[in-house]
Amino acid sequence: MSKPSYDVVIAGAGIVGTACAAELSESGLRVAVVEPKMVGGGATAAGMGHLAVMDDSPDQFALTRYSQLLWKALVPELPDDAEYLPCGSLWIAADDFEMAEVHRKFAYYRDRNVPVEVLDSQSLAEAEPNLRPGMAGALLMSDDSVVYSPNAARYLAEKAKRYGADFRLHQSLTSFTKNYAHLSNGTILNTEWILLANGTAAANLVPGLQMQPRKGHLLITDRYPGFVNHQLIELGYLKSAHSVSTDSVAFNVQPRRTGQLLIGSSRQYGTNNPAVESAMLSKMLARAVEYMPNIGTLQSIRTWTGFRAATPDKLPLIGPHPDFDHLYLATGHEGLGISTSLATAKILADQLLHRSPSIAFAPYLPARVMQHA
Ligand SMILES: Cc1cc2nc3c(=O)[nH]c(=O)nc-3n(C[C@H](O)[C@H](O)[C@H](O)COP(=O)(O)OP(=O)(O)OC[C@H]3O[C@@H](n4cnc5c(N)ncnc54)[C@H](O)[C@@H]3O)c2cc1C
Repeated sequence: MSKPSYDVVIAGAGIVGTACAAELSESGLRVAVVEPKMVGGGATAAGMGHLAVMDDSPDQFALTRYSQLLWKALVPELPDDAEYLPCGSLWIAADDFEMAEVHRKFAYYRDRNVPVEVLDSQSLAEAEPNLRPGMAGALLMSDDSVVYSPNAARYLAEKAKRYGADFRLHQSLTSFTKNYAHLSNGTILNTEWILLANGTAAANLVPGLQMQPRKGHLLITDRYPGFVNHQLIELGYLKSAHSVSTDSVAFNVQPRRTGQLLIGSSRQYGTNNPAVESAMLSKMLARAVEYMPNIGTLQSIRTWTGFRAATPDKLPLIGPHPDFDHLYLATGHEGLGISTSLATAKILADQLLHRSPSIAFAPYLPARVMQHA
């Protein structure tokens, strides 16, 4: 049989698909990317673009920190319109109970060489004067940053093209068999591997994949430079992000380089309806006002929703499908896909090219969430 035209056909040109396209094509593979809409127009356009390190589990920490260091290395080549902002994050403790968590996190990160600092009540008030007075303190994570993810995805797509990747927009992957990718316009691409980086839609192509959409709302304001200086997240966010059944909101505000503020965040299961829900939005904004009383006086420009691809254990799916050696997955990133896109791409390249892995990839293998017939 003749050599396939492509080594890998990637479904999806969000931040994950474009990161994979850039990494795999730079590594010498022949790559095609299939995308029905536009580059970076899915969950990637709906997200906040917070490049964060998290420690819900050792495996989440390993992936987020590795990816954060990859983002830092990428910064010098990012275009200005990627709006990279090294603002750091502040995890806000409202009371002494949450302050104990600040100290626990501080020790965890310090022991793993992540730059981190504890702010007491007064230092926090000086760092963020628009917070309500009397907060207990905060954890400052100075390596965290912010990026405008649709433009970062566009940059990664351009980079992939420079290394020879072939982008096929306005077409979707409809089905596949060993060595063949079938597209919606009838084209059949001959390929060694298929990589599903199509976010929540991957579940439509892989029976038994345990992943569900988790809706989120965001609001962007007019320009108020200096109103907030860091990405601000309440420590209670962890409770809401961990909940696997109930709807939840948390105080989460981000400064943009434009001077605008992004206000989040909400999490909902059990709906595919993208409509902005005024009840959920009101709840989210009420939480923001609780933490920042003057935020309610700012002018809103736009609100929108998006869907996170949520797995049962909150870790993404990166690697081969257990039953089909030609099929790979790069999805299930929930609320951290922008943060972890670059690490995802490295891990896939390590797997496909049999390189020695930069971090252990066993915790992210898809087999753990597959229901077998
Ligand atoms: C409200 C909200 C806030 C968030 N905030 C953050 C944050 O601050 N930091 C962070 O790291 N993450 C955040 N996230 C999560 C992040 O946005 C996602 O994890 C990430 O964008 C996922 O990227 P992706 O490339 O996997 O998916 P997507 O961006 O959804 O891309 C998938 C692409 O696949 C295409 N596609 C679908 N079906 C097919 C098919 N059959 N064939 C080919 N292509 C197909 C789609 O058109 C789409 O373009 C947030 C998410 C939401 C909803």
